[in-house]
Amino acid sequence: MINQLQQKYQLSLLLLLSCVAVLGVFPFVVIRYFEGNITAAIIDMTLVVGMIALVAYAHYSKKIRLISAILALFINIGVVAIVVANGINSFLWVYPVFASTFILVKPMEAFGINMVAGASLIALSDIFDTVSMGSFIVTILMLSISAFVYASHGVKQFRLLKALNTVDALTGAFNRRAMSSDIQAALYNAERSGIKQLLAIVDLDHFKAVNDKYGHAVGDQVLKDFVSITTSHIRKYDRLYRFGGEEFVLLMLQSGEQQHAFVDNLRAAIRTDLKTPDGEAITVSFGVAAWVPGTTEASWLKRADDALYLAKESGRDLAVFSNH
Ligand code: GH3
Ligand code: MG
Ligand code: MG
Repeated sequence: MINQLQQKYQLSLLLLLSCVAVLGVFPFVVIRYFEGNITAAIIDMTLVVGMIALVAYAHYSKKIRLISAILALFINIGVVAIVVANGINSFLWVYPVFASTFILVKPMEAFGINMVAGASLIALSDIFDTVSMGSFIVTILMLSISAFVYASHGVKQFRLLKALNTVDALTGAFNRRAMSSDIQAALYNAERSGIKQLLAIVDLDHFKAVNDKYGHAVGDQVLKDFVSITTSHIRKYDRLYRFGGEEFVLLMLQSGEQQHAFVDNLRAAIRTDLKTPDGEAITVSFGVAAWVPGTTEASWLKRADDALYLAKESGRDLAVFSNH
């Protein structure tokens, strides 16, 4: 969800940026033309048309990151070209273009593009007969460094927001919100690929007794230990979510014969590693359901929950696979 918001935000920034740029640049196409500076008019016109085309393509293709990067290169190359062709009269465009680059790409990429464009100007343009090169270097560096700091701060805030939105505060496992959106993505992939991904509900056995005997704080620590033990054993494409209380969901996005053995080994590893403060083993029960055609989020969780019920009924410390 946050990613979708981010995409919409980036697209609206692209639209805004191109509107401002087009409205700002277009009058100069006319001015340069009537001044008889055809080269500058053509470069400006190319910039206007290019920006409109790129933003329209971003809007329809949704390839926002790629188009933003192309646009960043395009406007930087454009500003170097116009300053080389038109000299001091177009020089001030360097500043808004350099600042805008930070809206389009990652801070480090923007800084790099700015530095290359700045160096190209120094190498190719003759404006430094009029403008002090020292002032140019210092002002460009000040602008790029300030924009870099500001943009990096924005990136950090976005990461934090994403973590707050998807991670369970106590255990560090992913939360239910992340689970739902990942299950939707897994269902979509499974419908296309037919891969029999697995969903397991993992429930700590007799956890209430741990709380009763050692207190809630120890119970909390056991939940944290459970998550760190489990995440250290699962594979690259497996993901663990806190479903609620002492129940977790494990989504296994691969399929294969070895899945049963993997789940059983994980259960055994948890029994070995997860302990009360007195060193007693804490066990878990698994209810596991493989994806079948027509599975929905609710039906998947229900089949796993039914299997979990059987695991509890059969004495706990077990993994039961749903067979329907
Ligand atoms: P079973 O083997 O049948 O699963 O038994 P159980 O005792 O684990 O299950 P039950 O549902 O009876 O109890 C779950 C307990 O988990 C009760 C609740 O207080 C505890 N619990 C839920 N969330 C938390 C939490 O965030 N921290 C702690 N310390 N305990 C929690
Ligand atoms: Mg339990
Ligand atoms: Mg439970």
